[in-house]
Amino acid sequence: MSKIDPKLRLPPNNHNYQIFNSHCHLNDEKEYEHAFDLIKEGKKFNVTDFIVIGANQDFNDRAVQLSQKNKHCYCAVGWHPEYWSLYQNIKMLNYLEQPNLVSMVGEIGLDYHYSIDDKLDQQRIFSSQLDIAKQYNLPVSIHTRDAFEDTLQILKDHHIFRGVIHNFNQGPKQAEAFLDQGFMLSISGVITFKNAQDLRESLKIIPNNYLLVETDDPYLTPVPFRGKFNHPAYAYFTLKYIAEYLNIELKELAAKVYQNTERLING
Ligand SMILES: [Zn+2]
Repeated sequence: MSKIDPKLRLPPNNHNYQIFNSHCHLNDEKEYEHAFDLIKEGKKFNVTDFIVIGANQDFNDRAVQLSQKNKHCYCAVGWHPEYWSLYQNIKMLNYLEQPNLVSMVGEIGLDYHYSIDDKLDQQRIFSSQLDIAKQYNLPVSIHTRDAFEDTLQILKDHHIFRGVIHNFNQGPKQAEAFLDQGFMLSISGVITFKNAQDLRESLKIIPNNYLLVETDDPYLTPVPFRGKFNHPAYAYFTLKYIAEYLNIELKELAAKVYQNTERLING
């Protein structure tokens, strides 16, 4: 497990704010056994709080366990579209029944990137989980890839107005449509990539109080670490990039994003 390079440090006078990472996978099998070290290391970059996101049975179990063991970890349970064929909701409903255990339903959604043959099955499982989220009055964490129209339509059909588009990476038109639906947009390390011009255009129209940041570790590593393991603490580099791009003080933006994340999960 690669840890943070010991030479990497924030300036000493730079520790007076906190960053909330709205989507990470400390529950990934490669991260889980080091999760508490990774959480501790987050503090080096002021990343203090984490939403650990489910994706299938194992991911859900480990997300719940982390949230029970560490008060800075919040958990989401749900079935990623990639795992629709394994979907079963008994254990998920058990978790949801327990008061104050689960903060969100996710990540759920549609992914047409590799195949559209299973489109209808994906839609069916997505819809069923949206109904569950509604029943338990929880926000949703949405994974959508090459499926913008269907995702939006299904959210509309199910009257879902509370949630986040995870790793939002599209242009202003799509940003506006999700914002109109009441959704927050969570920006990952993708914003630091050269080819993310559309996304940078979107940044200009996302209101400050609808913006979140995330790592989606171990994937989507931001510049300057591309190609390496993505550490949940690297949410700092994404936030720093956004603050510089929008010409907002980092500390101020961090505070806003922190409040937004709290508002999303607390209602
Ligand atoms: Zn994810």
